[in-house]
Amino acid sequence: TLKGRIAVVTGSTSGIGLGIARALAGAGADVVLNGFGDAAEIERIRAGLAEEFGVRATFHGADLSSGDGVKALIDHATATLGPVDIIVNNAGIQHVALIEEFPPERWDAVIAINLSAVFHGMRLTVGGMKQRGWGRIINIASAHGLVASVQKGAYIAAKHGVVGLTKTVALETAGTGVTCNAICPGWVLTPLVQKQIDALAAEQGLSDADARAKLLGSKQPSGDFVTPEQLGGLAVFLCSASADQMTGAALTMDGGWTAQ
Ligand code: NAD
Repeated sequence: TLKGRIAVVTGSTSGIGLGIARALAGAGADVVLNGFGDAAEIERIRAGLAEEFGVRATFHGADLSSGDGVKALIDHATATLGPVDIIVNNAGIQHVALIEEFPPERWDAVIAINLSAVFHGMRLTVGGMKQRGWGRIINIASAHGLVASVQKGAYIAAKHGVVGLTKTVALETAGTGVTCNAICPGWVLTPLVQKQIDALAAEQGLSDADARAKLLGSKQPSGDFVTPEQLGGLAVFLCSASADQMTGAALTMDGGWTAQ
């Protein structure tokens, strides 16, 4: 059980982050939610988690595209709940374009949120974890942290960077009671991926169902989406004593994507 542990999950108002926050709260952790969205809807999610699982849950809407934003989130967590025991660096964005057409400001934004925010999140929490002799760092990379696809240069650079950075921090924390791992999901049906399905449907005149099947068929041998609940289960495992010796790993959950 994670009773008494304090977990920050970045980008947890939607998709994978929300699935992981739910799973950690379900295991007893107090959670700090973060991300964008409708204030009333976010408050409903926050209050729902606190009530359903009997944990403390707070929200801070920091924009993690700057180091100051990440610091504001960690400061909020520490001030309201206490020192951070678990950080899940999950917030992320995508931009799809050929490299010669890639808008430099989209490159900067993807690197800032998908890579630099992971650095800041770890930078600001790992010292305290080491001091207290226990901590869990979970970085949400991607199958695209291990292999590439066309038109996702910034995302792939960032996610490969996350996998590398995860290994460095695993080495720097080895033997301290802190572990640092990356999770590499395949396709998960979240708003981030639905946008790509919509684009494919529009471009090729496909129905939503056909576009989904085509997206899966191109990369994911299982033919099914990974779910936020399944990723939540993996995150809870990484926080358990069974995973005390698992560190520096890039764990795939991708329906066979990277086995090909
Ligand atoms: P999503 O769009 O459903 O959720 C992204 C979350 O990040 C939201 O809560 C959003 O508000 C938040 N966010 C975005 N920009 C932010 C910013 N600047 N500051 C703070 N919060 C911000 O996306 P998702 O699919 O759940 O993706 C979550 C993570 O999983 C990302 O890192 C993504 O790259 C990764 N991932 C997704 C898939 C997939 O198939 N969906 C696969 C592999 C990896």
